Amino acid sequence: MQIYDLPGPKAKAIIERDSAVISPSYARAYSFVMDHGKGSEVWDVDGNHFLDFAAGIAVTATGHSHPKVVQAIKDQSEKFLHISADFYHEAWVELGERLDQIAPFKEDAVSFMTNSGTESVEAAIKLARYHTGASQFIGFLGAFHGRTLGSLSFTASKPLYHEGFYPLMNGVVHVPYPDPYRPVFNQRPGEDYGETVVRYIEDQVLGKLLPAEDVAGLLVESIQGEGGYIIPPAGFYPALRDLCDRHDILLIVDEVQSGMGRTGKWWAIEHFGIEPDIVCVGKGIASGIPLGAIIARKSIVTWPLGSHGNTYGGNPIACAAALATLDLIQDEYLQNTKEVGDYALDALNEIAVRHPSVGQVRGIGLMIGVEFVKSKQTREPAHDLSERVVHRAFERGLLSLGCGKSTIRISPPLSITKSELDDGFEIFEESITLAEKEFQISHVA
Ligand code: PLP
Repeated sequence: MQIYDLPGPKAKAIIERDSAVISPSYARAYSFVMDHGKGSEVWDVDGNHFLDFAAGIAVTATGHSHPKVVQAIKDQSEKFLHISADFYHEAWVELGERLDQIAPFKEDAVSFMTNSGTESVEAAIKLARYHTGASQFIGFLGAFHGRTLGSLSFTASKPLYHEGFYPLMNGVVHVPYPDPYRPVFNQRPGEDYGETVVRYIEDQVLGKLLPAEDVAGLLVESIQGEGGYIIPPAGFYPALRDLCDRHDILLIVDEVQSGMGRTGKWWAIEHFGIEPDIVCVGKGIASGIPLGAIIARKSIVTWPLGSHGNTYGGNPIACAAALATLDLIQDEYLQNTKEVGDYALDALNEIAVRHPSVGQVRGIGLMIGVEFVKSKQTREPAHDLSERVVHRAFERGLLSLGCGKSTIRISPPLSITKSELDDGFEIFEESITLAEKEFQISHVA
């Protein structure tokens, strides 16, 4: 297995120039400086080759520069680049029609197009307030919904995201996300842990703090992403839907990371058998061209002309890239994600058996988290070790990203093949072995 000396000379020079002129607030994971990519492979400016298990934080759904997406962008570019949301164009309408077809609810859907995940969350917050006339919200600890002030008020995965930015938007109460690996409440006999969390919301939050009629919406990541790739137990969403129905609270799901086929269905919420009211979309929708959306039940999109908008909403290049992306996901990658996702889960579970530092492997489709612990018994998070695994993998030609306290996410392009996964897992396991030696974690621990 080759080991790169990173960053190489060209990468080093670019990183130095970057540090002079680009905001230091960007949290770069490590010194990868991209030159070009193809499918699940990327090359840095020094010619080093990597497999990409990060996909630009779950964005390049169809792989890097898929020829059909590139062609759609080229074709649209030659026609026009922009017309603004003050006018109409066909690709925008077609995208709305496609999102209506794949919306995770039976009612007709109306979409509002944005430029990013955070802007989708902002739109959902505003629509929920407008439609209900209520002002309060419930969000979840560990959540990541973005960094503009509205979405940031829901984001609760690291104090650093809030530090220095108060006051945030008023009216968000956070509750624990149902993490079956790290429960914080005692379950009643026969109760699913997801139901336990919903009982807490009902008894403690609605019962003691927030008048239910003042609550506009509940915002939840269908699968928690940045917080650690946490999959809620089966009882959670049915109980949550029931709670929202009984109190007229809108159920807003953030599918920015988990949506667009990442779990082998269009939306992660479809794995849980309930229908949300508003879906926040971003990341993978246009394979890397900035685009987001909210998809909402038609009956709740009651805001009037002029009440919300933007300059770039429905940008023609982004819509063209999204339409090509939707075709590819529909025709090939939903199926591929199911197949290779199951294959990846099996392979990672085998790795987990061989390594004392791997506490849990969890995932659906190609949204997989590998959580590292100091000991399988205590489940104490092994943050430094997981970071070391990411860096050792980088030096050996694999891009991955951490999340939560000590989890590594496996979120490659949905086009990845089994043999590419095998190659990546070989590097990943070697990196775990090395990190375990460095941190002196052995099977006796
Ligand atoms: N929501 C979720 C679940 C996310 O994972 C992210 C970004 O990581 C966002 C919202 C914010 O998206 P963006 O960075 O495009 O604003």
